[in-house]
Amino acid sequence: MQNKDIPNLLELQKIENKIHERHHNIEGHKKRIEHINNQIKKRKELLIKNEEDLETHKSELKKKEKVLFNLEEKKKKSNEHYKVAKSQIEVEALEKELKDLSPSIEALEDEILELLDSIDECEAKIKDGQNFLKGSKDTKEEIEKEVNEDIYDDEHAISVFQKKEDSFLELLSSEAKSLFNGLKARYKSKEFITNVEKGKCKGCFYMLPSHLVESIYRGINIECCPSCQRILAPDLD
Ligand SMILES: [Zn+2]
Repeated sequence: MQNKDIPNLLELQKIENKIHERHHNIEGHKKRIEHINNQIKKRKELLIKNEEDLETHKSELKKKEKVLFNLEEKKKKSNEHYKVAKSQIEVEALEKELKDLSPSIEALEDEILELLDSIDECEAKIKDGQNFLKGSKDTKEEIEKEVNEDIYDDEHAISVFQKKEDSFLELLSSEAKSLFNGLKARYKSKEFITNVEKGKCKGCFYMLPSHLVESIYRGINIECCPSCQRILAPDLD
């Protein structure tokens, strides 16, 4: 009597492959969300850094402007004193003071200009970051909606396949069922049943003894590969 388990096991393998594919899809959908969440996290961190930099630059600017103001006041006063200086010694001292003040003031003015540029740069980056985050909120919601729909579809398909699988499982002999369960776990649902090809197991390429190949083609008993234990089906092509 021909063994009926083999065709059913082949069908079960097809179903398992489809379930596996759907699980793989679900992982892919979840990765889309992970990717956008990572991007948002990175941009948020960058925004915080830009805001901190801006505060640092602003407080530095304030300090330097204060120093500049004091130096300029000092210069103004020295100039006034210079105009009314009486003695030669006084004139020379004030001239020296004014001469010394000018480079400090110029250097400070340069530093302030640089700081103002940095502040502009920071503000542009912050604006860019805020725009990105504002836009990504909508994008994230859209992607989440899509992803949830895709996951729902895949999960629904899996439940349909599982029902189909249950109906095939009912048809199996107890020997085939226990082989199926054991091998399914061992091979993580992939290729628990394989074909004989040119006398070899297609799963592990083990050269099968000829009496085993004959038995597989007679199709009365369920035969397993002595090397990888996969169930062997005849190559029907
Ligand atoms: Zn094998």
